[in-house]
Amino acid sequence: HLTLGIETSCDETSFAVVAGGRRILANVILSQTGEHGRYGGVVPELASRRHVTNAVPLLQEALARSGITLAEVDLVAVTRGPGLVGALLVGVSLAKALAWALDKPLVGVHHLAGHIYANFLAGPGDEPAPEPRYPAVALVVSGGHTDLFHLQEGGGLAWLGGTRDDAAGEAFDKVARELGLGYPGGPVIDRLAERGDPQAFPFPRAMLDDDSLDFSFSGLKTAVLYELERRGWRDPQRRGELEARLPDLAASFQQAVVDVLVAKTLRAARQVGARQIYLAGGVAANRRLRRDLEAAAREAGLNLACPPPVLCTDNGAMIAAAGYAAWRRGRRDGLELDVDPDPPLDEWF
Ligand code: ATP
Ligand code: MG
Ligand code: FE
Repeated sequence: HLTLGIETSCDETSFAVVAGGRRILANVILSQTGEHGRYGGVVPELASRRHVTNAVPLLQEALARSGITLAEVDLVAVTRGPGLVGALLVGVSLAKALAWALDKPLVGVHHLAGHIYANFLAGPGDEPAPEPRYPAVALVVSGGHTDLFHLQEGGGLAWLGGTRDDAAGEAFDKVARELGLGYPGGPVIDRLAERGDPQAFPFPRAMLDDDSLDFSFSGLKTAVLYELERRGWRDPQRRGELEARLPDLAASFQQAVVDVLVAKTLRAARQVGARQIYLAGGVAANRRLRRDLEAAAREAGLNLACPPPVLCTDNGAMIAAAGYAAWRRGRRDGLELDVDPDPPLDEWF
């Protein structure tokens, strides 16, 4: 059974072919980050236009790489939200056209469910796809989201908590911009932090001491800005001084984010009696987060799984995986399927 997965929710255009919901035959991803970089963030109108021009060539490449024809596709799965409305519309319109022309079923996928399902994929080789384990807790940390979910037997998702202001990835991106490191900020900060001291600057760990499973990252971003201001490092004349401390700033900021993410994820696992933790979303590519969460999980007797970095950020394969799971449970969408910038998660399949 072959699922075509389509992702256009933000600034990646991606088409994938996934066999049996689990095995990736092709996962073609075109990221526009380079183009949006000079504006310091994603420009919605530009993203939509690029999706339009790139979609068909990328679809053809995904088919060519997987060695199949369009007629062999059994199911069309597409991100219907959350995301940028104009960007989502490109993928959903194309998915509807394909499903109608091929007379194949169509499933609209919740983007965050897609991020979580990236954990259950295997490459085209012989290695087995990881079996989902329940009950589990999933931490989705991405450019627009920081959420904890209870992943229940059968694949249902219940929301446990999330950020009250900025998403973790958003904090990485905003801090990187203030440090003059460009967009996206996560990968650069991750690399710089490798040579920095995570204790050099005592940045705050917000909401660590309350019992909620919520997060807040805007105060941390402000604390970094305040530190730059206080030291006079926003003065272009003192760029050299700032540059010398970039690794320490990056490491200290990153550690503050990671400490809170790790503590709350373990708290969530305890609360729902989970034995398994799944990490998902673009920030899941962060090496410090992977390392610290792995260590904390091991100490608590829990198992941690995270997708390989290329499946952490937006891609069509994860949408195919989640769409296939939904289809197996009987989910079908008609041609009235519409984009939804904030779809309900509990009805995602
Ligand atoms: P959402 O999934 O919430 O709609 P999105 O699709 O834009 O948002 P993703 O593509 O999942 O987000 O992830 C992009 C985010 O991940 C960016 O904020 C980026 O800075 C961050 N990121 C990528 N790699 C790393 C890394 N190594 N460390 C920290 N953050 C990272
Ligand atoms: Mg992106
Ligand atoms: Fe995403």
